[in-house]
Amino acid sequence: MQYYSLNNKAPKVSFSEAVIKGLAPDRGLYFPESITPLPASFFENIENLDKVEIAYQAIRQFVGDEIPEKELKEILKDVLDFDFPVIDFKENIGTLELFHGPTMAFKDVGARFMARCLGYFNRNNENHVTVLVATSGDTGGAVANGFLGVKGVDVVILYPTGKVSDIQEKQLTTLGQNITALEVEGVFDDCQDMVKTAFLDTTITDHKQLTSANSINIARWLPQLFYFLFAYKQVKSKQKDIVFSVPSGNFGNICAGIVAHKLGLPVKHFVASTNVNDTVVRYLKTSEYNPKPSRATISNAMDVGNPSNFIRIQKLFGNNFEVLKNSFSAYSFNDDQTKDAMKEIFDATGYVADPHGAVGYLGLKEYELNGNDYGIFLETAHPVKFLDIVEETLDTKVEIPSQIQKVIKKEKKSIHIHSYEKLKEFLLQ
Ligand SMILES: *Cc1c(COP(=O)(O)O)cnc(C)c1O
Repeated sequence: MQYYSLNNKAPKVSFSEAVIKGLAPDRGLYFPESITPLPASFFENIENLDKVEIAYQAIRQFVGDEIPEKELKEILKDVLDFDFPVIDFKENIGTLELFHGPTMAFKDVGARFMARCLGYFNRNNENHVTVLVATSGDTGGAVANGFLGVKGVDVVILYPTGKVSDIQEKQLTTLGQNITALEVEGVFDDCQDMVKTAFLDTTITDHKQLTSANSINIARWLPQLFYFLFAYKQVKSKQKDIVFSVPSGNFGNICAGIVAHKLGLPVKHFVASTNVNDTVVRYLKTSEYNPKPSRATISNAMDVGNPSNFIRIQKLFGNNFEVLKNSFSAYSFNDDQTKDAMKEIFDATGYVADPHGAVGYLGLKEYELNGNDYGIFLETAHPVKFLDIVEETLDTKVEIPSQIQKVIKKEKKSIHIHSYEKLKEFLLQ
C-alpha cells in the first residue's frame, strides 16, 4: 500500500515511511492510495471472529507486506488486550466504552499500535526515531505508556505547566526510561508551536528523525477503525440501523469510523459531537471553513480550533459537500449543556459519564433517532480522568481504578523549559 500527501506535492511513500515521517514533506497528511472493501462474508461472520482476527483483516491492506502476518497479529494481540464493551444504556442507545486500556483513554490503542510498528521497523537498529508530542492532557499519557521501553524510540512530551490534571501529569512524568516530560511555562498552544517549529528546524532534523504521535500519524489514526467493527459485532443481532456519535476534537476517531464504513461496515449515519469549538459545525451550516483559536472547556481533549483530520473526512466523501452532509452531521454543546447531560444520564441510569462521553450522548439526542435506529455514543475517557468536574457535577465519588492508583503514588520527574531554544538544546544534546 502506498500513501500520498493530501497536499499533492510530495512523493508517495510506503506504510513504514509514512509512519516514520508522520507528516509528508509538503506538510500534507498522508492518505491511503486505495481503500478496498472487505468481503461480505467478513461482516456475515463477524460474531465468530475474535478481536485480533477482526483487526487483522481490517488493517492488513493498510500495512501491506511490510509487517508479516505472524508479527502483525502479535502486535495486534498485544495492543488489544482489554475489552471494548457496548453497554446497553436505554431504549435504542448504547455506549461503546473505549477506556479500559492502561491509561483509561481511547488513545491507548492508537499509541500502542504506532509504538509497536516503530519498534518493528527498528528491529535491525536502522530506524531510530524521536517522537515529539505536545499534549493538553490525554495524548501524553497514552503515548508515554504505549512507547515505554520500545527500542530505538525516544519520546519527548511537552505539556503546559499547571494546565493538565494531577492524574494526567503523573501519567506523563513518572515512567522514566525512554520517556522524557518537558514542562513548559505557557499554555498548550505554546507547546504545540514549539513542536511545529522543531519539525521545520533543519539544524535538528539533519541530526534526528523526528516524528509526531498525534492522529495525523497514520499508525495512530487507522487502528481506531477497530472500535467501530467491535461495536458492530456486539449489536449486530439487534438488526437495527446504527448511528455513531463520536466526541470529536481533531476528528481522527470519527474519520477512522468512516474508513470502517468504506470497508463495508453498515452504518446509517455519523454524528460528530463537539464542545463550543465548533469549526466543523459552522462549516456544515454555511459551507465555509473558518477555523478559530481554541477555547477552553470541561471536555478539554476536544478543545481544537482547526481539526487536522477534517481534510481526510472530506476526501473520504469525495470532497463533495452534499455527499458529506447525507451521512455526516455535527453538533456543538456548551459546558452547561454538558453538565446537564451528565446529570440526566446519572439520574436516569446511574451511569457516570465523563464530559466527553456526555457530549457524545447529546449529539445522539440532537440527531433524533427513529424507531429502527440504534445510537451508539463513544465513551472516550474514564470519568476518573476528569475527577474534579465529575464529582462536583454529580455530587458523587468516583472509585479510583487500580491502574490509576499505581501511578498516583509514583514520583514526578520533569524538566522545566521556558523557550524554544531550551527544547532545541535538549534535542541536540
Ligand atoms: C482525544 C480525545 C477526544 C477527541 O478525539 P479526536 O480523534 O481528536 O477527535 C475525545 N475524547 C477524549 C477523552 C480524548 O482524549
